[in-house]
Amino acid sequence: MVGDGALRALPLDGAGGRRGTNLPAMGDFNQSVILEAVRRAPQGLSRVELAEATGLSAQTVSNISRRLLDADLISEAGKEVSGPGKPRTILRLNPGGRFALGAHLDPTVTTVVLLDLAGSVIARERIGTPLQQRPDEVIDAIAATAERLLIDSGIDRSRLAGLGVAAPGPIDPVAGALVGPPNLQGWHRVAVRDELRLRSGMEVVVDKDVTAAAVAEKWAAASGAGSGSFVFLYVGTGIGAGIVVDGEVVRGSADNAGEVGHIVVDPGGPECTCGSRGCVAVTCTPEALVREWWGLGGRSADRGATDTEAIDGAFTLLAAEAGSGDPLAVLVLERAAMRFARLLAVMTNLLDVDRVVLGGPFLTPISALMMSTVPVELEGLRAARGIHPLGVGTSALGDDVAAIGAAALILDRTLSPQTRSLMLPAILA
Ligand SMILES: [Zn+2]
Repeated sequence: MVGDGALRALPLDGAGGRRGTNLPAMGDFNQSVILEAVRRAPQGLSRVELAEATGLSAQTVSNISRRLLDADLISEAGKEVSGPGKPRTILRLNPGGRFALGAHLDPTVTTVVLLDLAGSVIARERIGTPLQQRPDEVIDAIAATAERLLIDSGIDRSRLAGLGVAAPGPIDPVAGALVGPPNLQGWHRVAVRDELRLRSGMEVVVDKDVTAAAVAEKWAAASGAGSGSFVFLYVGTGIGAGIVVDGEVVRGSADNAGEVGHIVVDPGGPECTCGSRGCVAVTCTPEALVREWWGLGGRSADRGATDTEAIDGAFTLLAAEAGSGDPLAVLVLERAAMRFARLLAVMTNLLDVDRVVLGGPFLTPISALMMSTVPVELEGLRAARGIHPLGVGTSALGDDVAAIGAAALILDRTLSPQTRSLMLPAILA
């Protein structure tokens, strides 16, 4: 391990904006600090404003701006007259300066997107990935789809930063492999990263879907919304959390942070495989909610089914019935909202974040009901409620949040300031 001296010496301000360092040999870090400052200011910034915002010297800002202009990552966007002296040139992000592909691997459908530097989706395609399909067939399909999106968009390949993959956890970051994903049979220890590199010739990274969702929120959500510290509660086939503290994604020592499935949120709830009762995994997942609904007499043609597609269909029906006011469906989802609030209380009390974002494909159909209950319940359980407010909202990125996040993983890794790059500058080399 490296000592944390460099980390302590790093000047960071309290508002979430990054400060640069004028120490020598920190060029890469400063470059990403400046790029992030420009990215967070859609109206653009002058070099003088950049120096003020980052704490870097005028000379450093000037040199780095030149490098970013030469790399087409930013562009000059007119001049601004402010007071005496010559007009200032405004620098803006160049959305077409870099692109990234992202693929979200999910039990029934895989989504592939092409993202620009501003985090906008340029192209998108969904491919069916039925459970009986072999991993190598799915990997072939992802590589072919990624290639097609790139060619159809007409983008110069030299502007592509790579392909990110978001997959259900846990993952082995060294092997770039999935490790026993509960809902993806046959995917244990499949080296997704290397196989995709081989087929596509692209730089590939693999991360957990919940982490990717948090990175999406950080990169692609409306400017400023993704800054600061937040927890992203991801409601997919499973439930997980992505964590961002001071603008940086918290991955843990082996990229598997955010496994919240065995936090107890309903002590009187059903038994879990871990030996406890009422864990998130057996009380909050779409399957758990559908089973609870069925147990109380909820109707469904697929009642008692166990396969993913039938559960998906039943969950959609449950959400629709709750939306039209069916008392039983509303009861089931209100109970779920209470449990989500308890889970979020544990996380927000532990991490003292300033925001909570709810998202993921199964959150979309129940978001109105969740938002009418979770914020109020959570507030009552929060240790810091008398000290600072906590924002609770839903992700604006919708069902594609993990695919967008997969692409954003590539942009985040290559272009965001990371304190670990200060400790281990060789990572960026
Ligand atoms: Zn458990």
